[in-house]
Amino acid sequence: MPVFKGIIASQGVSIAPLIRYIVKTVEDLDITYCEFSTREEIRLDVALEKYIELLSEIKKKAPESERELLEAYELMAQSLVDEAKDIVRSENICSELAVKRVYLKYRDSFRESGSSLIALREADLRSIASSLIKYLMGYTEGGGILDIRDKIIIAEDVTPTDMIKFAKEGVKGVVTLKGGVTSHAAIIARSNDIPYIIIPEIRLDDIKDGEIAVLDALDGLLVVKPGESELEKYMAKLTRFEELKSIIRRNAFIKATTLDNYIVDVLCNIRDLEEARVASSSGCDGVGLFRIEFLYMMKEKAPSEDVLYNTFIKVAEFFRDKVVVIRAPDLGADKPLPYLILKEDNPFLGLRGIRLLLEYREEIFKPFLRAFLRALRVYENLRLLLPMVTTTREVRETVELLNTLIGELRLDNKMLSSIKIGIMVETPAAALMIDKLVETGLIKFVSYGTNDLTQYTLAVDRGNVRVSYLYDELDPALLRLLEISVSKALEKGIEVEVCGEMASKIPAIPVLLGLGIRGLSVNPTQVGLVKYVISKLSVNSVKKELLSRVLSSSNNEESRRSIREYMVSIGLEELKPWL
Ligand code: PEP
Ligand code: MG
Repeated sequence: MPVFKGIIASQGVSIAPLIRYIVKTVEDLDITYCEFSTREEIRLDVALEKYIELLSEIKKKAPESERELLEAYELMAQSLVDEAKDIVRSENICSELAVKRVYLKYRDSFRESGSSLIALREADLRSIASSLIKYLMGYTEGGGILDIRDKIIIAEDVTPTDMIKFAKEGVKGVVTLKGGVTSHAAIIARSNDIPYIIIPEIRLDDIKDGEIAVLDALDGLLVVKPGESELEKYMAKLTRFEELKSIIRRNAFIKATTLDNYIVDVLCNIRDLEEARVASSSGCDGVGLFRIEFLYMMKEKAPSEDVLYNTFIKVAEFFRDKVVVIRAPDLGADKPLPYLILKEDNPFLGLRGIRLLLEYREEIFKPFLRAFLRALRVYENLRLLLPMVTTTREVRETVELLNTLIGELRLDNKMLSSIKIGIMVETPAAALMIDKLVETGLIKFVSYGTNDLTQYTLAVDRGNVRVSYLYDELDPALLRLLEISVSKALEKGIEVEVCGEMASKIPAIPVLLGLGIRGLSVNPTQVGLVKYVISKLSVNSVKKELLSRVLSSSNNEESRRSIREYMVSIGLEELKPWL
């Protein structure tokens, strides 16, 4: 009964037969016998047409939120074919080789960037190039793996397109060797409730198709060929998870209140209009983080002011009287722009977030701020969040810019003081200097971006599976930093929220409440569960019984153990699958 431990990319439990999803890619397709003919450009057009047909098939079944991504794929395929045609024309080589040549050119420059997110884009390009070559060679898409319904897929890597296909075809779970929890494929798995874990150590050759396996994406385990008693145990776990799911659904629409009557705002993280629409009926108290970067990434140019304005208006309409926090585009590092290649040795410590916005203010920041101001005139529930702030200067410069734009747009100059500006605390610098940042008097709220704050505090790349065992938001180092920072922020009387993944994690909730956090911005699918957990906790009890134990832990295992023991001691045994 081999058991493999992995990283959870999307929670859930499933028991089903495994199936290997082996897709020949551009790198291992044999194209040695391909010869130039005078019809190469026509062949490329036909392959492109077939690929676009495939995308539109997927698009028909895909949720709105994934359509933009598929459209980006279409554009990437089009550009790839255009470049391949140039090569065919100038060098008289066959289309298959030309496509491969274009792919290799970009692969190498993507690899040089050193960013894990760009590596994911490389995977997208690889999947497009592979499909095109397969069409050129006369293959059909899918390569014989047709019956994936009710199976657990195991693959080297999967693209967002694959994941959308899996969701549509009723796949029970996904295991990959590569990938990251913040990849697009992982986001799609989460929004479709597909349990998904990443296990770098597994070898596809060790797996036999059809073998029964348990995918425990609550504990990050893949149990192959479980024995009878194991199977029974996991059946019970699956049932418990299914039972709790309905309690969770019921809790989604209550106002989250602790046993000792502290009210907590449970907001949603969204990244596009479709998610906004879904989130607006998920029970959350508003949007705590609108990641608008997806409007910029994988596109040929930045969205226009009008596109941005219309998007903000629509989201504000979905939420009406509830707050909607729009983050200024957090570009650079793991969120690169194809039209702005920044050659940096260390992009995570480079021009990203607010730094990039201030540097490229004409092209990116000003159109965004103008769209925001115009939308704010219509909907007062909009708030502005600044990413990756490390200095007070960045806040001051942004406010100056807003002031100039208010003048240019001939808006009421009193408007400036009514803008609810917040900053993301994503670096130890911002966390430690929070009092000074608040003292500028320019910000009205603070949102802890714990995804980045964890990576910068623990010096662990959040997308690197090789060091992911070190990445834990419950590491006492991060909790101590949060304690120092949140208490300073609260002393200054400012509103404090958490919008990183930590806010959605059950063991983190008592700790965050104990630290004084009263706003959690979570994945829309987690709203009910988070509210349910809040309703079972008492802030005073956490402060008395848990907080100091956690903060004085020597490592993450110890802090997690204390939390688990505490949760069980207050009768939350039922939450064990999450702890
Ligand atoms: C964070 O860093 O916690 C955050 C919410 O921002 P992102 O995940 O988009 O970098
Ligand atoms: Mg971040």
